[in-house]
Amino acid sequence: MYDYDLLVVGSANADLVIGVERRPAAGETVLGSDLVVHPGGKGANQAVAAARLGARTALLARVGDDAHGRLLLDSQRRAGVDTVGVLVGGAPTGVALITVDPSGDNSIVVSPGANGRLAPRDVRAADSLLRSAAVVSAQLEIPLESVVEVVRNLAPGTRFVLNPSPPRPLPEEVLAACDPLIVNEHEARVIAGGELDGSPEDWAAALLALGPRSVVVTLGAEGALVASAEGTARVPSVRVDAVDTTGAGDAFTAALAWRLGLGESLVRAAAYAARVGASAVTRSGAQASFPTAEEVAAL
Ligand code: ADP
Repeated sequence: MYDYDLLVVGSANADLVIGVERRPAAGETVLGSDLVVHPGGKGANQAVAAARLGARTALLARVGDDAHGRLLLDSQRRAGVDTVGVLVGGAPTGVALITVDPSGDNSIVVSPGANGRLAPRDVRAADSLLRSAAVVSAQLEIPLESVVEVVRNLAPGTRFVLNPSPPRPLPEEVLAACDPLIVNEHEARVIAGGELDGSPEDWAAALLALGPRSVVVTLGAEGALVASAEGTARVPSVRVDAVDTTGAGDAFTAALAWRLGLGESLVRAAAYAARVGASAVTRSGAQASFPTAEEVAAL
């Protein structure tokens, strides 16, 4: 019996969000709404999303000894995430500068700050935490060497889920541990080395050939696609009015990881995750948009 359903290893950022009529082009200045500061970062988002659904969740991350760091710790604790693995200090808390247009599309600049100082030795020091979760999920807003260290320290029975965002080519050692590798089209293209022809089914096949045990391709309003040695299946989305897609992928990944840890098949877990992702796009913000299990059931 594990202490946690899910351990998220990843980033924690303060999201500084401004609404704009139109996102600026290079060299252009546009006026926007009042600034709103939200807790964010893919790791922190996933942890809150899972905890809100009812998963016993812990976060391994690093924040600065500053107001943004305290905002992040507070939001994790309020959602019910165990923050025993959140390290404090070493650099300012990571920040994401986000502009959102009326259609819900966004542009983001990230200053990694303390996330960039979550070092392999921090991962080794958290060995007992790593071994106390049924599923460990990671993203790439922390140093890649630290993700490699996570993979090396997994307990034999622990499942590893990776959303390689922002994407970069991955070492074989990391790819081989992914079950699944979760990507959108852009991430799929980068992981596959730039070559990606044909349908999402073809992309999934190309990614599977790189070594992960399974692959999930998220397709926005079109839902998702799952692929493993057992075959490929489309997972339909739920039709909703999208308000803000920030955090949809994080909510999807967290829900998928949790349900896999409960023993659900990849197809069933992805179908549940698609409902969670759809629910998340109906509200603005990242963490503030994540649904409870009751809200998912009511969708
Ligand atoms: P990312 O944010 O990583 O690009 P997606 O935008 O593909 O990820 O969203 C993740 C999942 O959330 C999708 O696979 C889908 O299930 C759900 N989702 C996202 N956007 C919508 C939408 N407009 N309508 C319904 N479901 C959506």
